[in-house]
Amino acid sequence: VTAEPDNWTRTSCVYCGVGCQMEVGRSAGRVVAVRPANSPVNRGHLCVKGRYAFDFNHADDRITSPMIRRDGGWEPVCWDEALDFTARRLQEIVDRHGPDAVGVLGSARATNEENYLAQKFARVVIGTNNVDCCARVCHTPSAKALKTMLGTGAATNAFDDIEATNAFLLCGANPTENHPVVGARIKQRVLQGARLIVVDPRRTELAALADVHLAVRPGGNVPLFNAMAATLVEEGLVDRDFVAARVVGFADYVAFVADYTPEKMAAVCGVAAGDIRAAARLYAAGRPSMCFHGLGVTEHLQGTEGVMALINLALLTGNLGKPGAGINPLRGQNNVQGAAQMGCDPASLTGAQSFKDAGPRFEAVWGRKLPASHGLDLLQMMDAARDGELKAIWAFGYDIYQSLADAAETGTALSRLDLLIVQDLFLNRTATFGTVFFPAASVFEKDGTFMNSDRRVQRVRQVLPPPGDARPDWWIIQALAERLGKPDGFAFDGPEAVWNEVRALWPAGAGLSYPRLDNDSPNWPCPDERHPGTPVLHADHFADGKAAELARIPFVATPEQVDDTYPLLLTTGRTLNHFNAGTMSYRTPNATLAPSDTLDIAPVDAAAYGLKDGDIVRVRSRYGHACLPVHVTPAMRPGQLFTSFHRPDLFVNQLTSSVRDRLVHAPEYKVTAVRLEKP
Ligand code: SF4
Repeated sequence: VTAEPDNWTRTSCVYCGVGCQMEVGRSAGRVVAVRPANSPVNRGHLCVKGRYAFDFNHADDRITSPMIRRDGGWEPVCWDEALDFTARRLQEIVDRHGPDAVGVLGSARATNEENYLAQKFARVVIGTNNVDCCARVCHTPSAKALKTMLGTGAATNAFDDIEATNAFLLCGANPTENHPVVGARIKQRVLQGARLIVVDPRRTELAALADVHLAVRPGGNVPLFNAMAATLVEEGLVDRDFVAARVVGFADYVAFVADYTPEKMAAVCGVAAGDIRAAARLYAAGRPSMCFHGLGVTEHLQGTEGVMALINLALLTGNLGKPGAGINPLRGQNNVQGAAQMGCDPASLTGAQSFKDAGPRFEAVWGRKLPASHGLDLLQMMDAARDGELKAIWAFGYDIYQSLADAAETGTALSRLDLLIVQDLFLNRTATFGTVFFPAASVFEKDGTFMNSDRRVQRVRQVLPPPGDARPDWWIIQALAERLGKPDGFAFDGPEAVWNEVRALWPAGAGLSYPRLDNDSPNWPCPDERHPGTPVLHADHFADGKAAELARIPFVATPEQVDDTYPLLLTTGRTLNHFNAGTMSYRTPNATLAPSDTLDIAPVDAAAYGLKDGDIVRVRSRYGHACLPVHVTPAMRPGQLFTSFHRPDLFVNQLTSSVRDRLVHAPEYKVTAVRLEKP
């Protein structure tokens, strides 16, 4: 608390996908305190980010005026000039190159209503399906796998099931640091007796508590999960009744997985066969067993397929459609589920609905034919910009250059755009290439809703007005639509009116009115106002009343391998005190708690390189280099390194690999071959 608040406003946390509810204290036009609120998600708790990292809102370098780049520098202008300039440039590009020369990127930092308007702007005003968001680089593989195999691209179970489970399978996630309130609930349940299997190359806090820690080699998830499945089949641990009733493709799957015995896969994934078998037995015996996974599963060449291999395990053991079970992606950002769910995805409409099924309904409400062309996803937009085919990008609250893998390639792509509209609180690294800057309102300065990891839509409430000429994203989108001569469908008087259009188009969210959300946050699907919500998906059936089909996932090794020149494997991830690219948390006292990213290295490797804590080392990959302070820790296995990517000036994504998920193109942030050099 920096001053005694004279007013408290209940809202949603500005950081991770747990979606904690909080009260924000205001005094003299500033946010001065945060305290936890009681909700089914956080039960009166907050972590160090939600509780203390709010001062970014009043940082000295907050941008509060629109700006246009002129003569190489940024010139502050009024909104009329910024909007007229941008509308004219966009129209010229559309007239000359067609609507598919423009791309729009929604944001997990924006509300559901703003993401809905962003994709509507792309499809209605510009006439393109080139619309995506930052979900592309984290959990789009989860959404794709869950949607393909089960019918809904979201977590199957609510967080409340943590207390109902007997065993956790925690894969590629470190929730005590990255989703701390949920991590604490998992830890508490384990201390009460639930069994715990952790799949993680590092010895995290929960790995140290686990019954079985499978320290998989980065890139080895698919052979590991297949070997667990082979164990279930071979040792008679399959839930035969569940499989007979709700699963198809079992005989073919049994034949397929016979080649993936733990004994064959041990050398491939770096885990002893006995440990793989022990994990499979625990998962099967735990029933209900609950799987949580993070980006250690999704950010790989086989990210989507890794999630599919996990779903196989749940199908084989009957761990779906019941409390305390399921396949549950831990979402990284507070509204990353919502950004994609609202339609910031080139291949689907709001509610993850298909063009084929829902297209006519959208055309009726929007009064316009939907674009026919296949849209580009974020990574395809970068390729098209590099190749001169994409001419303009509008990026909301998303520092693409800082956060996409292989930054040199990203920089090349962004530098070739004719128009880059950057919309943010600060001049981020992407703005290096920006043409126009729109100053956005922060999450404390607007109304709306976020959607958390367990399918709850929760209110975001305005605590104080935006500074200077900063405006909410929804206001800016509508103003630009008007300048482009398309005011129809963009004349909402506020977020609630936008949300009511979302409810009209998305049957699973129809029951989630603002008045209801004032007192309640049921897990969707929630098709009408009396519906209690759906904490557990697939209780009776999978998509469209069908059974689910087991997926035969052959292992494909990443091309990013160690060799004599690059002998170490680097993975990247997040840590407790900071958030993503550090835009917000590094402008708060949390920067004092954790002043820098570090390069975590095993003691044996540190000794071999003559390194000790605090030494600065240059890390070089096939893509670039970055200098980092060393942290020697037994949590690392020999031959492997870890760093976070929070501190903007260290710019860790200069190092990360250009390999992408085979199906949905999420970058393979988790596997980069590197070497260490003296700086
Ligand atoms: Fe915010 Fe996530 Fe921490 Fe909860 S756990 S306070 S949502 S950062």
